[in-house]
Amino acid sequence: MDPITRCLHTRSGVSDARPSVTPLYQNSAFDAGSTYFYTRKNNPNVEEFEEVVRELEQAQHGVAVATGMAAIRTCLEQLRPGDTMVLNTLVYGCSFKLVQRFCARFNVRLEVLDLSSPECVSAIPIGTRLVLFETPTNPFLKTVDIELVANTVKSLDSSALVVVDNTWATSIYQHPLALGADVSLHSATKYMSGHSDVMGGMLLTDRDDLADAFRQERFYSGAILDPYAAWLLRRSMQTFGVRLERQSNTTAVMREFLKGLPQVRNVYYPEIDGRQLRGYGGILFIELRPDLVPLYPELVSALRYFGSGTAMACVTSMIAQPYTGSHASMTDAEKEQMGLSRGLVRLCFGLEEPDDLLRDLQLALASIDQAVLKPVTA
Ligand code: PLP
Repeated sequence: MDPITRCLHTRSGVSDARPSVTPLYQNSAFDAGSTYFYTRKNNPNVEEFEEVVRELEQAQHGVAVATGMAAIRTCLEQLRPGDTMVLNTLVYGCSFKLVQRFCARFNVRLEVLDLSSPECVSAIPIGTRLVLFETPTNPFLKTVDIELVANTVKSLDSSALVVVDNTWATSIYQHPLALGADVSLHSATKYMSGHSDVMGGMLLTDRDDLADAFRQERFYSGAILDPYAAWLLRRSMQTFGVRLERQSNTTAVMREFLKGLPQVRNVYYPEIDGRQLRGYGGILFIELRPDLVPLYPELVSALRYFGSGTAMACVTSMIAQPYTGSHASMTDAEKEQMGLSRGLVRLCFGLEEPDDLLRDLQLALASIDQAVLKPVTA
């Protein structure tokens, strides 16, 4: 045999190797006779990640996709021209844009309602085919009552879909399916990854028909999670619980501390009612005192331990301005409609020692306050 031919066909005899963790199946295709077929359809690493999240959130099915946005888009694909969908007013900026663009393009009627208000929930129109919301919401961490929305929607049309973006609540602290939702979806890029080094999305459902529809959509659209991303995410899930517990404790401490600072006008933190939400992770919002808002760039520069940018729910702390970051794709008028101003600041707490973060924030906020108070010299 020519060495080139041999080189092409050489495989190590790995059948009796017993790796202590599932190895990376970085192959696009499987040999005939395998239970797998093609990685665009499924892959052992993708399946293992699905299994882990499915177990954690006690769902019947998990369908992993490339990003959180792909998870939302896969749900929207269940709509047909002429349908009506409802979106909550407070959502991540790109989710708003995706839904807005999708509905305009495919002739779906879009109703944007404040679903944190029970009166608005009762205004969900007859004929609604899909309702999408986050709880707690991004921004402001308001609560949408999942059970109330699900009961209302199902009383109008039992086949309508209730989709909850559970990213910020997490699979540990909130189980939307148990409260009547049809789908719980995640940007796995956030807490599940936890290290800002991988993107992913997850769709969870108890319904066989929906899981089948999602898997088919994923196969034909090519939206499946990459095996390497799945492998990294599965590894990250092993520290999910300890990371979240640490972030949760730090956030609770920070909340009390920030409330007492003269530079902070408001602190936003969700309601942990123990029924719907059983705990909360590492993100909160503060509203800066109005005279300090123009000094946001100086605040960022003064901080030592908070990185600035879109990363969140990771092992290091981050600061961001939703107006120019997570919601930048919305128009000023759309942002105004949701009550979003430049004074709102998102803080994500990592795994640093809470005292270090506390001192860092205290000093940085005091430094911009002093800059405001300094008399103007000619
Ligand atoms: N849903 C929420 C609540 C988010 O915060 C984000 C991203 O920030 C997404 C969905 C989109 O996720 P991804 O960036 O993984 O596409």
